[in-house]
Amino acid sequence: MNHPKLLILLSVLLLTTFAVQGQQILIRAGRLIDTNQKTVKKNVDILVEGNRIIKVGKNLESASASIIDLSNKTVLPGLIDGHTHICLTPDYSSNPPVLYKTNTYRTMEAFKAAKQILMSGFTTIRDVDNEGADMADIAVRDAINKGMFFGPRIFVSGWAISITGGHMNLTGLRPFIDKKVEQLAIIADNPNDMVAAIRDQRKSGVDFIKIYATGTLRHINRETMESLSQLSIEEVEVMVNEARRWGMDVAAHAYGGSGAYNAVKGGVHSLEHGLFLDDKILALMVKNGTFWCPTMTVYLPDEGASKADIRFHNRIVAEHKKSFRRAMKKGVKIVFGTDIGSMPHGEGWREMERMVNYGMLPMDVIYSATVMGAKLLRKTDELGQIKEGYFADIIAVDGNPDENIKAFRSIDFVMVNGNIAKND
Ligand SMILES: [Zn+2]
Repeated sequence: MNHPKLLILLSVLLLTTFAVQGQQILIRAGRLIDTNQKTVKKNVDILVEGNRIIKVGKNLESASASIIDLSNKTVLPGLIDGHTHICLTPDYSSNPPVLYKTNTYRTMEAFKAAKQILMSGFTTIRDVDNEGADMADIAVRDAINKGMFFGPRIFVSGWAISITGGHMNLTGLRPFIDKKVEQLAIIADNPNDMVAAIRDQRKSGVDFIKIYATGTLRHINRETMESLSQLSIEEVEVMVNEARRWGMDVAAHAYGGSGAYNAVKGGVHSLEHGLFLDDKILALMVKNGTFWCPTMTVYLPDEGASKADIRFHNRIVAEHKKSFRRAMKKGVKIVFGTDIGSMPHGEGWREMERMVNYGMLPMDVIYSATVMGAKLLRKTDELGQIKEGYFADIIAVDGNPDENIKAFRSIDFVMVNGNIAKND
């Protein structure tokens, strides 16, 4: 091992500390964001014991606690990304990993991704489809939960469910070959197979179910911008009911049109992407309390794209922005999500800045990436706030992120589950 590598390893060892049961850590916060009240408090202390916050208040003392001085920082709860893909890297579209990478290698990539996401301030993620990576997402989640590695809290969906010819069904292969290779999702074309797929995923240990209610970009009609509807209301209902029986929620990939409407009408817990959400769908989402994870940055045109593709993506981006503004006005439950994995891991701040650019207040972006994320995950009593009894998931940044969202480009301190993962 050469010296630079040794130095990096040593610095990692020194900076990361596993929480010890009964051991206390006292954090002195210069500014503390109350994510639920959307207010900032000055000079507040946070006492952590094991993996929980046990006290929040002024001038706390503890004889045995080690002190962390964040008196010149803004402290807030660890962020929640409602839409990630740790089993993907941005190079996925040219070579589907299900065909070109071993699942062992993809598990290692997923572990690396989880780590990058954590270091960028996200202490909880909802990983929405592993795209055929066997059970890599479950393995990484379990290894982190067992304390083998530092990582974010991960809620996983395992394999998603789609239809023949739809999103996540490989294209261009000779039919003979196509039938013989693993697809990027479970392909189910009738209610019986859909129910079986959910039971199968549950047995493997997933936390929730991901379905594809519309097709992907290649299915969008470039004249009308209509997306392919993949499921009827009845099919969505069948899956939502089966998932519910096991205590699981359903997240639906949906761009717009009748596919998105059917998903909301069929009772899904969240809509993912929603590029083209009209007033009718948004009104139904408000009525049903459906969450929306917009993931807007990922639809920007790729570098080096053809002129036609750039035009196509620019139209999508413009429509997406309109959907976002309409949803804000209507009071849809907008939950922060990036679709990271389709873009580089660790760059969640890009989506935060986009939301502000589109008219959301920085404090509301913070709310959507903390309190709203906790609501989505049904963990409002444990996640998304710095409060007594909550998980000790705490981050700190320079400046005032509640006024300038760019503060999230650089994260100075990360504590997850009481473990100090980063302390610059
Ligand atoms: Zn996605």
